[in-house]
Amino acid sequence: MTLDIQKIREDFPILQQKIYKQPLIYFDNAATTQRPRQVIDVLTRTYTEFYGNIHRAAHFLADKATLAYEETREKVRNLINAESREQIIFTKGTTESINLVAYSFGEAFIHEGDEIIVSEMEHHSNIVPWQLLAGRKGAKIIMLPINDEGRLEFEKLESLISPRTKLIAVTHVSNVLGTINPIKQIAQIAHSKNVRIFVDGAQAAAHLIINVQDLDVDFYAFSAHKMYGPNGVGVLYGKKELLEQMPPYQGGGEMISEVRFSGTTYNELPYKFEAGTPNISGVITFGAAIDYLGNIGIENAAAWETELLNYATVRLIQIAGLRVYGTQPGKSGVISFNVEGVHFFDLGTMLDKFGIAVRTGHHCADPLMEHFGIQGTVRASFAFYNTREEIDVFVEALKKIISMF
Ligand code: PMP
Repeated sequence: MTLDIQKIREDFPILQQKIYKQPLIYFDNAATTQRPRQVIDVLTRTYTEFYGNIHRAAHFLADKATLAYEETREKVRNLINAESREQIIFTKGTTESINLVAYSFGEAFIHEGDEIIVSEMEHHSNIVPWQLLAGRKGAKIIMLPINDEGRLEFEKLESLISPRTKLIAVTHVSNVLGTINPIKQIAQIAHSKNVRIFVDGAQAAAHLIINVQDLDVDFYAFSAHKMYGPNGVGVLYGKKELLEQMPPYQGGGEMISEVRFSGTTYNELPYKFEAGTPNISGVITFGAAIDYLGNIGIENAAAWETELLNYATVRLIQIAGLRVYGTQPGKSGVISFNVEGVHFFDLGTMLDKFGIAVRTGHHCADPLMEHFGIQGTVRASFAFYNTREEIDVFVEALKKIISMF
């Protein structure tokens, strides 16, 4: 199905505005996407029609809010084809999901001298929690390298796995390079050696069809705000046998079964990992974002984003002195680049004056920057609401800026 992009754009009120008197061109979708009216309306309706604290009260509003909250859990289960709703834990984002696993899986399964393999292309949030865990437990982090194309050298994985390896932490899609990693193959290698796999799906969930059972991953995490949904909501999927063996991450209301001063018993999954009042309105609104994305069709969105990526790449590489980082065929709609003689920060701030929103800097991936011997890049990242015309304006603005230096 071809998407009617102009019609889709009408759903996004924020895209209608002008920035410095120029039509907004929003190319920072890997950082966070924008929200359609259909999603914003559900947030408003939650607060105006059926807001109450979930799971606990015996009144109409609380019941309605509970139902809507749990409906989103079922939508997420269906979205990623998880076996059961008990495996869908709501967090405040990918970062919290990773910290939950690093703490809780770490408590149960990581001991002194154990090893955790982390890829070189990870976002800081899929590095630092593992380093903290390694520090607490006296474990070791082993790096899985990438090559200069920005591809994971996953054929080296087998030789990096030792009898002490307990977990591999890897991103599904790189937020800098757009590289899509062969998660199913990595999971097969890991499991053949009795190693668990954690996948950071922050950049994948809005662009790829995710089937956690087919991928056979042990953990999978993502954020609603990169999926046209609210910020402050994330998901952790985990295999049930692992989640059941893992201790709670945070203590508080909702995660308990019975509390006595002599000892406390914990609630069943998924509530064991959802202490306190969660982001009720956010989770309910996330359900609307999943519906919206479902109506667009993730495959349709991805096909259009790939067209945009290919078009932008062809135009950008014609600019003298411009180098693209991440050239793996079939990558996701993210393009990171530098221009010789112009600092990425200057490019980003001047593009802003043309109404064009891009991201500049290290993109929370210092080790990746170090691999390429750079401090940062300019990153343009596409969503289904972007157009070829926007890329034309972007390329012409870039040329004008470069000519000023
Ligand atoms: N991993 C990747 C690959 C990301 O791109 C991001 C967001 N930039 C994160 C993790 C962290 O996500 P969040 O900030 O939503 O927790």
